[in-house]
Amino acid sequence: MEGDEPAMVVAGDNAGGSGGVRQWDVRLLLDPGACEAAAAHVGFYLFKGLLEKKRIRDLDETTRETLADYVAIVKGCKADPLGRASFGHWTWGIGDDAADEDAEVCVGRVTPITHFTMGGAVINEKSQVLASDLGQESGQLPIRGLWAAGEITGGIHGDNRLGGSSLLECVVYGLTAGEEAARSLSGA
Ligand SMILES: Cc1cc2nc3c(=O)[nH]c(=O)nc-3n(C[C@H](O)[C@H](O)[C@H](O)COP(=O)(O)OP(=O)(O)OC[C@H]3O[C@@H](n4cnc5c(N)ncnc54)[C@H](O)[C@@H]3O)c2cc1C
Repeated sequence: MEGDEPAMVVAGDNAGGSGGVRQWDVRLLLDPGACEAAAAHVGFYLFKGLLEKKRIRDLDETTRETLADYVAIVKGCKADPLGRASFGHWTWGIGDDAADEDAEVCVGRVTPITHFTMGGAVINEKSQVLASDLGQESGQLPIRGLWAAGEITGGIHGDNRLGGSSLLECVVYGLTAGEEAARSLSGA
């Protein structure tokens, strides 16, 4: 958040590396309202050093200008170039009082990544990979000697997944796949 770098952007474009994976560089600023709404996460990220607290008055010039722009948009005094109509729990600067320069915000740098993929190899209850996504219901047989578990598998959660439930395909089917593969090798 220092120097000439952008303060609050939707997505920076400082691609890392030469080709291959593209790393976006996004600046994040949470005002007191947003910090409070996400307090449990914010506490953890502060502890990890991924976010840091700063007073508004200590932010660099570019950040402060961006902040003033953003507040004008939240207040409806300025059109949002991104067309947003909702601004979450943002509170700073939108009340009747003068904006509190001593207010603490949390700042950090983030980049989008893939959190989870839905879909993948279809397996049966023995973790055997099936030959087609229609599975056994259409008479497809398991591929001999191939078991799968974890995020590479699909279909276990239906159309969507409850957050935090990756253990199901990793641990439950990981154990099943291991046992089935061992049994197959031992001829039991
Ligand atoms: C930021 C983040 C937060 C998450 N938080 C949660 C959460 O709170 N709760 C939850 O349930 N899930 C969470 N998930 C999802 C969960 O972490 C994954 O679904 C889970 O780790 C997948 O495990 P996996 O063993 O199937 O795959 P991975 O953990 O991706 O393991 C695959 C392994 O295969 C290796 N590999 C790849 N290609 C090759 C190759 N050719 N040869 C040899 N090895 C190879 C990789 O290096 C890797 O070690 C989160 C994911 C992310 C990214």
